[in-house]
Amino acid sequence: MEHQRSSEEQGTVPEPADGARPADGIRRKRLIIASNNAGKIREFKELLSPFGFEVISMRDAGFNEEIVEDGETFEENAHIKARAVWEATKTPTIADDSGLEIDFLDGAPGVYSARYAGEGASDKERCEKVLDEMHGVERELRDARFVCSIYFIYAEDDEYSVSGEVCGYIGEKPKGKNGFGYDPIFMLNDDDSMATIDDEEKNKISHRANAFGQLSRILEEKFS
Ligand code: IMP
Repeated sequence: MEHQRSSEEQGTVPEPADGARPADGIRRKRLIIASNNAGKIREFKELLSPFGFEVISMRDAGFNEEIVEDGETFEENAHIKARAVWEATKTPTIADDSGLEIDFLDGAPGVYSARYAGEGASDKERCEKVLDEMHGVERELRDARFVCSIYFIYAEDDEYSVSGEVCGYIGEKPKGKNGFGYDPIFMLNDDDSMATIDDEEKNKISHRANAFGQLSRILEEKFS
């Protein structure tokens, strides 16, 4: 899904931020990633590098409140996070939310992906819980997808939502050592799981890459 809530602004680069003047002397508009996850910030920094923003985490923006992610969809949760940081900072903000949906489990773990086996459980425990629930289920009923929603608030009434997914099925046992989370039990085909391919390959096909691609196209249209 992708929507745009106001007419696009004109201009080739983001407007200068108030007071932000980095070492190279070029003023950049700040953009906050509504996360403190270093891996996510790094991925977004890379994605956003062509657009001239100064990309910072919400902690670096001085936002330390806990955000209650009580949405029923990934998009709602991404929106909740982006809105909370936008309201506090009035600075362009990007938030994302992602997880695994399994058809046989009516879409679970879904928005509960991170805490499916309880708070503090490990990736391995989460995978084991899913494998237990899928035990004995035939291949045709094991279809699943990773989903990623990204919400971007550029200004009041100028906001965007995009989602990407990658389809696969739940394997019968973990396979592969790469990636994280549910990657070892997410089969892309009969040979490869998401954890047998390397990061470079994953970053071409993943739900996040797909959503990133859509966000990039919006940013290119807006700022190029
Ligand atoms: P969040 O978007 O950082 O809140 O991630 C939610 C949860 O979904 C993570 O803790 C993982 O369990 C799962 N997840 C999200 N993306 C991936 C992925 O690329 N591979 C495996 N698990 C993922």
